Amino acid sequence: MTSPALTATVDLGAIAHNVGVLRAASGADVMAVVKADAYGHGALPVARAVLAAGAAELGVAHLTEAAALRAAGIDAPITAWLHTPGADFAGAIADGIDIALSSISQLDAVIAAAHRTGRSAVVTAKVDTGLNRSGVAVDEWADFAERVAKAHVDGSVALRAAMCHLARGDEPDHPLNDAQAQRLDAAVADLTRLGAAPQVVHIANSPAALTRPDLARDLVRPGIAVYGRTPVPARGDFGLIPAMTLTATIALVKRVAAGQGVSYSETWIAPRDTVVAVVAAGYADGVPRLLSGRIRVRIGERMFDGVGRICMDQLVVDLGPDGAGVREGDQAELFGTGASGGPTAKDWADAIGTIDYEIVSQVGTRVVRRYLGERQVGLAAETTETGQ
Ligand SMILES: *Cc1c(COP(=O)(O)O)cnc(C)c1O
Repeated sequence: MTSPALTATVDLGAIAHNVGVLRAASGADVMAVVKADAYGHGALPVARAVLAAGAAELGVAHLTEAAALRAAGIDAPITAWLHTPGADFAGAIADGIDIALSSISQLDAVIAAAHRTGRSAVVTAKVDTGLNRSGVAVDEWADFAERVAKAHVDGSVALRAAMCHLARGDEPDHPLNDAQAQRLDAAVADLTRLGAAPQVVHIANSPAALTRPDLARDLVRPGIAVYGRTPVPARGDFGLIPAMTLTATIALVKRVAAGQGVSYSETWIAPRDTVVAVVAAGYADGVPRLLSGRIRVRIGERMFDGVGRICMDQLVVDLGPDGAGVREGDQAELFGTGASGGPTAKDWADAIGTIDYEIVSQVGTRVVRRYLGERQVGLAAETTETGQ
């Protein structure tokens, strides 16, 4: 079998393990966040794996992401929390998606869709407790609470849940975390007094799920930790296992003479006669161009330096004068679990001043996702591939 040019190997066994770590650390049920194609890992296989591993629910940003999971046969509870005007609330109601509401105008649109379709909408009150991003704003809250409770009582909506999102979850001891939890608890008390007590309350993202079990209410809502990346590096890795390994095939091996420039603008000039490998991965595949001259890749057991500009489709590594025995068709590991000193997504993030969330979610559509461990998590085949 020939290897694809680019492969993201996703270990579903690692994902299942990480769900277990999150349940144990938080003492709560898990709503696994699978937005943005499961942070680049593939929403559907990840959704199946987390549910098989004991996650109770799924969370996404857009209703379109929820609809795709329903269409593929996922029947677990799914909550979606980011809606733009014109969002398909009627479709979400038909699919039984829990619509998290951030404003009175969203509530009105959902009530209208419920009346139009003759069905009750399942909703979550998404409360802005201090992030000042989405969520019902403080100055709208009292009015929102009355209206959603009234709609709950008259049956056009079923208020199932209340949630908020932490601004400083990655600073576990910051007082804002406690203040946000107190504000959500107060909002839940308001809804309860108005006759619409939420059955499910959730606050904690990955860092809070791992470090602040006291903030777990009925569910925790982790994303990045499901994929095995520690959200609070200063507190260690919590036993999480990174699920994605990104590899690319070496397209060419060639000699470059001393004094020759490599790649656009000749930012690297060969200091001696050497041998380089052209790797079939570029910024369109999620390798940040800012890593030019700073990327290191693993080929076999050895690490090699990237040289020159990273291009849209390719990057070049210096193999040294003897070529190190590397051949066309060999695989270069761009990032993986970090086991035995291999490169990690966090190395990339640290090098360019971002977070590994951004690195993994940028892995592009030319990259073939390959899944390991499906049998281990109770899913059908041992390995499947999806080209995207
Ligand atoms: C993305 C997101 C999460 C998951 O955050 P992590 O830091 O990846 O755990 C949880 N809740 C909401 C509202 C989100 O947008």
